[in-house]
Amino acid sequence: MHCPFCGSHDTRVTDSRLVAEGDQVRRRRQCASCGERFTTYETAELIMPRVVKADGSRESFDERKLRAGMLRALEKRPVSAESIEAAVERIRQRLRARGEREIEAREIGEEVMRALKRLDQVAYIRFASVYRRFQDLDEFRAEIDRLAQEPGYPSQEDEQ
Ligand SMILES: [Zn+2]
Repeated sequence: MHCPFCGSHDTRVTDSRLVAEGDQVRRRRQCASCGERFTTYETAELIMPRVVKADGSRESFDERKLRAGMLRALEKRPVSAESIEAAVERIRQRLRARGEREIEAREIGEEVMRALKRLDQVAYIRFASVYRRFQDLDEFRAEIDRLAQEPGYPSQEDEQ
């Protein structure tokens, strides 16, 4: 936690208590560099950015929709439910980590493709073919060739 006064990383917690009926943790901190005190609030609430669709309309982020799209692509593929949940969670984290209030639906699609590419290449191709709307068979084949040339992602990376 940076000190908001001098930017130092060296701050320590002097007091910590639950507030808002246990939904928040309030922490009093003191900066070891400049001595200023400040308060931080920590909540478990996951605030997701709003989704901007291609036509410019907005909607709330819908995790079920995200999962449904992935499950459709992963149908009958040898990928465990745990791996899928981990991938969904990772996408959520990545989207939140951008710190944007809004995010384009297209960018979510890119994240899903990225995740599927690690999980299962067949699912990736299924999703990409719908999502990118390959114009013709040549384009589709070009993407498969591109995939074949890419180094595989080690599966351990998925567990992080
Ligand atoms: Zn400071």
